[in-house]
Amino acid sequence: MSEKADDLNLLSGLEEFGFTDLDSISLYGDPESKRSEAVKPKEKTEEDYLFDRTVECPVCSSKVRVRAVRKSALRVVSRDSDSMVTYEGINPLFYDIFLCNTCGYAGTEKQFTQRLLKTQIDLIKQNISSRWRPKEYPRIYDADIAIERFKLALLNCVVRKAKNSDIALLCLKLGWVYRVKGDRENEVKYLTQAQVGFKEALAKESPPIAGMDGDSVEYIIGELARRIGDYKDALFWFGRVLGNTQARQSLKDKARDQKYLIADTLKKMRQAQTDKTAEEPAERAKPAAQEGKKGLGKLLFGGIGNLVRGY
Ligand SMILES: [Zn+2]
Repeated sequence: MSEKADDLNLLSGLEEFGFTDLDSISLYGDPESKRSEAVKPKEKTEEDYLFDRTVECPVCSSKVRVRAVRKSALRVVSRDSDSMVTYEGINPLFYDIFLCNTCGYAGTEKQFTQRLLKTQIDLIKQNISSRWRPKEYPRIYDADIAIERFKLALLNCVVRKAKNSDIALLCLKLGWVYRVKGDRENEVKYLTQAQVGFKEALAKESPPIAGMDGDSVEYIIGELARRIGDYKDALFWFGRVLGNTQARQSLKDKARDQKYLIADTLKKMRQAQTDKTAEEPAERAKPAAQEGKKGLGKLLFGGIGNLVRGY
């Protein structure tokens, strides 16, 4: 409990200087009013994490205003085993793709700020700009907007014959957006594509691959296989990480954890199978990875030339 200021009269004795009204002055302000003034920490809105930036389109040189995330304001909430990070108050993934509404070029910050070859610019102008219809987006993006923009970025990558790792990374992130949305079917579809692309990249590109060293790419391939239900493939890739004397211990620990997780899942599956009555024979689902190879995988990683020619 604080004593009232007028009882204390802390500045008494200054009357002769003309200060005759100081008996109720408080040295530190009124504690009561201070308390009511003390504003509760303002709840951050999504807008508080964002700012506008202007970048130059690498295809048509237009000045493009983009929404960017203040990385310094981000606070990590959780990290998934395939590197998807959840942050407090915003999903920066939704703002990952920059888009030029003049020519239709779309890509991540890196893909937007890098220089493109003249042949790539021509491919985009011929196949995307020639048919592009601009679209205005609201200032705050949701999962559906992010999905649309990631697909535009994917199309741009396919058209300009980007590296497999660039395409794979976009597929991985698109899979994550579907995970956030709770759309398991589409999540698996794009994680499958990411896995196909990272395997191609590992065989044809030199590290860093999508910012990762080779061992991390092997782990991601294994983890994506696990997530799409291809346990045999997952165990193969985790085995490669574990058997590699050069691989980081932290990565080996992660691979070992995921290997145990598979063993546990398989054990539970066997148990469920034993418990199940013989009345309803299980319909065997097609492995997602196999499906992917036939579908989009061929389109994105094998049939790029056909797609471009088909325009
Ligand atoms: Zn442009």
